[in-house]
Amino acid sequence: HSKESGRNRVTFFNQDMNLRLERRLLLENHLRDAIEQKQLSVHYQAKWSCAEHRLIGVEALVRWFHPTLGEVSPEEFVPLAEECGVIVDIDRYVMNYACQDLLALHTMGFTDLQLSVNFSPRHFSQPDTAKAVAEILHTTGFPGARLELEITESLLGPDTEDIYEQLQAIHALGVEISIDDFGRAYSSLSRIKQLPLHTLKIDRDFIRDLGQDADDETLVVTIITMAHNLNLKVVAEGIETEAQYRFVVENNCDLVQGFLFSRPVEFSQLLGLVKQPGAVRG
Ligand code: C2E
Ligand code: MG
Ligand code: MG
Ligand code: MG
Repeated sequence: HSKESGRNRVTFFNQDMNLRLERRLLLENHLRDAIEQKQLSVHYQAKWSCAEHRLIGVEALVRWFHPTLGEVSPEEFVPLAEECGVIVDIDRYVMNYACQDLLALHTMGFTDLQLSVNFSPRHFSQPDTAKAVAEILHTTGFPGARLELEITESLLGPDTEDIYEQLQAIHALGVEISIDDFGRAYSSLSRIKQLPLHTLKIDRDFIRDLGQDADDETLVVTIITMAHNLNLKVVAEGIETEAQYRFVVENNCDLVQGFLFSRPVEFSQLLGLVKQPGAVRG
């Protein structure tokens, strides 16, 4: 009996593995054409200043709509795109797209709006990364001083000696660097001091249970204190409740992002958000 059910489990397991492998290959194949076929678009999520009580910037988030597969989540396709390297082209496409959109808002008078784009650590295995960023700024006319790159914590890993030069070259364009999803991996904190960084974004996992989980509360307070001691700004991502917001504000967090303020929205809806009285200086 137990042998029989064990065999069934193995069969189910293999079927599941096959399905996942098939889906993965399918997505990888279609991903390569997604840019050319104009299937990618960009949504924007507000960044809110705790001290100034206003929207001071937005994060660009890629969206993929495939004609037969439908909407595919970045949680699913970004890791695949990173593995096969297509992420470099996707990120450059998103940056170019978002710089044009945000420049339109600047032209309407919202000149201090910042743009954050997600930037895979994969870029740093390419020699022309800083040049590509400079080129996008040049062709779109978007000011480097209003651009921020969000790079996941894996950037701080041990085998990243030569990224220092690349980050310096990007920094020289006026562009700021943010460490995204901070706390998710176990990175070497000494690396933070060595690199030209400006912001730490606390991972959503640590925000979720604020008010219920004392360990998470201690961690969040510790991260904010440490970041400020290193002269870094702190963003809390995934703020969904008033209680979470109150907790991070009371502990001197600089910026927040989350469904409590705004979900990621299309550019046309973003226009509505920034036009709200008092939302941004214009
Ligand atoms: P991320 O950069 O940490 O972005 C935040 C994610 O959390 C977004 O998911 C956003 O929609 C979601 N989020 C924001 N506020 C809340 C909240 O209050 N509650 C909850 N439950 N979720 C919230 P999204 O858009 O699905 O993106 C997932 C991840 O995919 C991003 O995480 C980022 O790592 C990656 N990604 C998205 N766009 C790009 C891109 O253009 N380039 C690269 N390299 N990665 C991207
Ligand atoms: Mg991000
Ligand atoms: Mg994040
Ligand atoms: Mg995240």
